[in-house]
Amino acid sequence: MEYLIGLDIGTSSTKAIAFDLLGNVISKCNIGYPILNPKSSWSEQDPGEMFEAVINSIKSVASENTKKGNKLLGVSFSSAMHGIMAVNENGDKLTDCIIWADTRSVEYSERIKNSKIGHEIYMRTGTPIHPMSPLCKLAWMKDNMELIFKKTYKFISIKEYVFFKLFRKYVVDYSIASATGLFDIYDFQWNKNSLQVAGISEDKLSTPVSPTQVFKGLDKKYADLMGIDIETPFIIGGSDGCLANLGANAIKPGDAAVTIGTSGAIRIIADKPKNDESERIFSYILTENRFVLGGPVNNGGIIFRWFRDNFSQLEVTRAETLGIDTYELLTKEASKVPARSNGLIFLPYLLGERAPHWDANSKGVFFGINITHKREHFLRALLEGVIFGVYSVGKALEETTGNIDTIYATGGFVRSELWVQMLADVFNKKVVIAESYESSCLGAVVLGMKAIGLIDNIEQVEKLVPISKTFKPDIKNHEVYMKTFEIYERLYIKLKDEFVSISLLQK
Ligand code: ADP
Repeated sequence: MEYLIGLDIGTSSTKAIAFDLLGNVISKCNIGYPILNPKSSWSEQDPGEMFEAVINSIKSVASENTKKGNKLLGVSFSSAMHGIMAVNENGDKLTDCIIWADTRSVEYSERIKNSKIGHEIYMRTGTPIHPMSPLCKLAWMKDNMELIFKKTYKFISIKEYVFFKLFRKYVVDYSIASATGLFDIYDFQWNKNSLQVAGISEDKLSTPVSPTQVFKGLDKKYADLMGIDIETPFIIGGSDGCLANLGANAIKPGDAAVTIGTSGAIRIIADKPKNDESERIFSYILTENRFVLGGPVNNGGIIFRWFRDNFSQLEVTRAETLGIDTYELLTKEASKVPARSNGLIFLPYLLGERAPHWDANSKGVFFGINITHKREHFLRALLEGVIFGVYSVGKALEETTGNIDTIYATGGFVRSELWVQMLADVFNKKVVIAESYESSCLGAVVLGMKAIGLIDNIEQVEKLVPISKTFKPDIKNHEVYMKTFEIYERLYIKLKDEFVSISLLQK
């Protein structure tokens, strides 16, 4: 049997998944690593550990398949966006990889955003100006890591680090480059204004290449370690967010992908970038003629996890006894009350929020509590609040890009029918769940198949993604939800200043 490996270098782990040519998963390997928090606002990862996870996960999947006589046709890459690190000429790290969740550059991002060229930079690069963006991280590094900054040979992301080790070349795919705030998504070059703000020249960055670029001639040492041929095609691929849309088959006009895992996002694919004058959404590159537009939310499934971990000890114990998932018990409890939780509204901004407000100071709020509200109302309001957060971004996206007809749902929340039905009802749109929710790895493989000529166009992904379930919206519930959603939207605006005041009192 012939197969490809989709490899995703994620935040919690690296996943290597082997797919046959019909899109079936034939084997997989997942190797985790920690996030390092040397200070509370810092989030870093050790590139050496991630590189080892890449080598070992490919090795594990390849050896399993070699034993069965299967033939590896290529390895195609996905990786998390917004990471940046400094290396010397030999590709050795001078810093760890500063990842998307790191907010140390918040003052820099505010300054850049409010500067004369802030808006222009956003409009040309498609990346909202926010501490997640490598643009802001570099501006911080320049002032706060002067010595390292001066002797840095290149500033790169984790995928560039891996490709340099494997092929001795500094290359970055357009997709990862487009999420740095440094790359012009209209002319596919590093953006001059961004370079000036970051305080670097172009030669400090890698050479941008197409996400379908194929590399051969692996370093023999690593090829041997992985147990694969040095001529195995390695496809550079794209970013996890962009590839997730492709792997979920959300690629036609009117399709949107909603992911709610730990965090969340809503994204669509368009044939042109389109930036929002109000700077609410991003435009990233999937391929030379496909762009992914959307917005990320910090407060996705983590909100449910927070409630489970802090307020549900009884349910955790009961679920253990019953041998079921605690989330199932909690979801059942939430389903005891009807849509709108009897007017209890939850603003889910426990981690501050990215889209649509891009406000690190925003906080969680329960609003409208009265004497009849019980635990189940709080639980349901919590789930509704997460969906309202995504809906608010979805509306900004529709205003910028046009109507959404169908939503392809991925991430841990799809395990709850109640939660997915809520998504359908709040949006008043059909929601489809694909069978495999390893969508970034599958997206990478589809791009890989195109790169090595196995398929003519990426639209053929449709044949590779079986649909497992469809949820239809209930218009009555939609109308019920819209009444609280209006208040939800106004609450943020009214509380904006108070979020700043309360932030000053919190650590
Ligand atoms: P990651 O972001 O690490 O990839 P997942 O996609 O696995 O995470 O999503 C984890 C989240 O999914 C949890 O925080 C929780 O909110 C949600 N989740 C997991 N299982 C269930 C379930 N059975 N019912 C409802 N939500 C669930």
